[in-house]
Amino acid sequence: MPRNSSLKNTRNIGFIAHIDAGKTTVTERVLYFGGRIYKIGGVDEGTTAMDWMAQERERGITITSAATTCEWKDYTVNIIDTPGHVDFTAEVERSLRILDGGVVVFDAVAGVEPQSETVWRQADRYHVPRICFVNKMDRVGADFPRVVGEIGDRLAANPLVVQLPWGSEEDFIGIIDLVRWEARIYDEDESGVNFRIVPVPEEMEALARTQREGLLEALADLDEDILERFLADGEIETDKLLSVLRRVTVTGQGVPVLCGSAFKNKGIQALLDGIVDYLPSPIDVPPVQGAKPDSESVEVRPPDDETPFSGLVFKVMTDPYMGQLSFCRVYSGVIRTGEQVMNVGRGRSERIGRLLRMHADKREEMQEARTGDIVAFLGLRHTTTGDTLAARQSPLLLESIEFPEPVISVAVEPKTKADEERLGTSLGKLGAEDPSFRVRTDPETGQTIMSGMGELHLEILVDRLLREFKVEANVSKPRVSYRETAIGSAQVREKFVRQTGGRGQYGDVELRVESLSRGSGIVFEWAIFGGAIPKEYAKSVEKGVRGAADTGILAGYPVVDVKVTVEDGSYHDVDSSELAFSVAGSLAFQGAMRKAGMVVLEPLMKLEVVVPEDYLGDVMGDLTSRRGKISGMFRRAGAQVVSALVPLAEMFGYATDLRSSTQGRAHYTMQVAGYEQVPASVAEEMIQRTGASGSREALVT
Ligand code: GDP
Repeated sequence: MPRNSSLKNTRNIGFIAHIDAGKTTVTERVLYFGGRIYKIGGVDEGTTAMDWMAQERERGITITSAATTCEWKDYTVNIIDTPGHVDFTAEVERSLRILDGGVVVFDAVAGVEPQSETVWRQADRYHVPRICFVNKMDRVGADFPRVVGEIGDRLAANPLVVQLPWGSEEDFIGIIDLVRWEARIYDEDESGVNFRIVPVPEEMEALARTQREGLLEALADLDEDILERFLADGEIETDKLLSVLRRVTVTGQGVPVLCGSAFKNKGIQALLDGIVDYLPSPIDVPPVQGAKPDSESVEVRPPDDETPFSGLVFKVMTDPYMGQLSFCRVYSGVIRTGEQVMNVGRGRSERIGRLLRMHADKREEMQEARTGDIVAFLGLRHTTTGDTLAARQSPLLLESIEFPEPVISVAVEPKTKADEERLGTSLGKLGAEDPSFRVRTDPETGQTIMSGMGELHLEILVDRLLREFKVEANVSKPRVSYRETAIGSAQVREKFVRQTGGRGQYGDVELRVESLSRGSGIVFEWAIFGGAIPKEYAKSVEKGVRGAADTGILAGYPVVDVKVTVEDGSYHDVDSSELAFSVAGSLAFQGAMRKAGMVVLEPLMKLEVVVPEDYLGDVMGDLTSRRGKISGMFRRAGAQVVSALVPLAEMFGYATDLRSSTQGRAHYTMQVAGYEQVPASVAEEMIQRTGASGSREALVT
């Protein structure tokens, strides 16, 4: 196929959804009809092609962003798997970054849920053109018009209804295509896989006409041509409608709404048509931009095989058979096996050993990857998720993906020496796969501390460690990642002097600390210009300061959001040493922090609970007892939605508590909102309990 037309015929898309909307089932059916899976699996039996890790299957959730390629008509459709759980927000954002378009899946009964709003807003932020698929039309209580209304109201989107369900619930038998003005009726005998195209049925005709008029009217608002013909009552041919719908979708002025039932295999082929009809190809979206290394200038790389190679590694994962796979979206140029590329951010060269395209059921070995492709590289040594790869002769750094700071941690203690070694290499692999997860060694206790974005996030990581990587270890209960900070500013001078016969120790540092806004970390500045301390000791002082900041001062938690300025000091020709200045820096920092006044910060979560009226009182009372602050409340689809800010420390076990107090009828979503000062009474207790150096974790097996 000529190159340009094959690029035009590529779709890089993702399914975006609230958990349980049916994203896995839809994806799996799309792969089936895309010709790659020959047996229809089902999430309930735990056999879908995309959920390939054991614990995903058990939990019935999708947590990784692997990419899978399938074919539909003349098109190549690359599906990037996006996770639905908000604990994995970083994963969602990472996959949104590299998609050209998205299919947002809704449950026809539940409609637009709080989490759908979260993912919708994320997709807005990355300007991802979307179509909507109202799934589960076969379920009792399915209500297509209501969901369309909610897409307009709650998501502030412009829904363009291009299909109508023919029947509903048990009687959902087909789909009316308002654009092509025809109907598809599914063959019940063949479990709905086969369909026939028939004229729009009489019983649906009136409704379908009104809806089509509505669609044309909406498009007339956005397109001059359609407006003219609409006003003149002229015919608008299908191709014209399709091209306008496509333009409107790509520019984000509207979202086509389709419907079906993945479970009953209805509407999937039409959804694939919708994907190729409405969603953009790599050349329909703005070209990627990046910074040239060591310069301020921004360069645009058009999506073209002739331009120098650039690509973004959006996912690194370890495959038990293949080793490390680095999934890359190629934005420009061509890359062949055996070639060298530059990992631009790290300034290192990487050799492309093998190149694979992943299908749901097999891996295809390839010799080259071209613009618009999504492929997996094998054997990259220095590359982790979020890194840019580019041609060595013209490197370009693509905007990297930002990951939030983890808020919760567990301590891990390997059982034997062999486990300790395995733990090290396994954590390295997990870290390369998922940058929203961090590992450090507690300087006081020597324990390995794993931190992540939520209870579930850590639970899954620990589970992989124990099962997939076969590390035997004791793991502590999850613990909130508190922080310490200064509330004011102060200046302190500290000397570290030892006279022990021969050469002594001499370090003398005066520094100032000031509080910074949340999220600033530690900013270190060397402001000595008169030579009071030789510049060569700046690194030692900084090391002392950062060491003390990591260990914590008040209750053993890392210090953040403080600016440290070294202003004065003195040195001794013979006795001064790196060690002496590091110790003096540490002492001065601790002294200045105490003098400035310190507080403990805790992660605050933004919580949304959907609860039937009957249980509202209980849920609100419970939130208050968890130090929650109710920030809003409104009715939605027969239930109350309560939003609140609650400290993460009070949220352990909330899922279970909420289930039992509402007989399983309420559910919630939660996201990190930021850090906030711990109330004095709670902080006091914490300081008493942990002493000044942090407590050793109680380990459970
Ligand atoms: P995900 O969490 O969004 O990936 O959703 P799943 O695909 O795991 O589906 C959640 C549940 O909804 C499973 O029990 C599916 O069998 C069920 N489900 C998915 N699609 C449909 C559908 O079209 N109709 C009905 N009735 N159930 C469905």
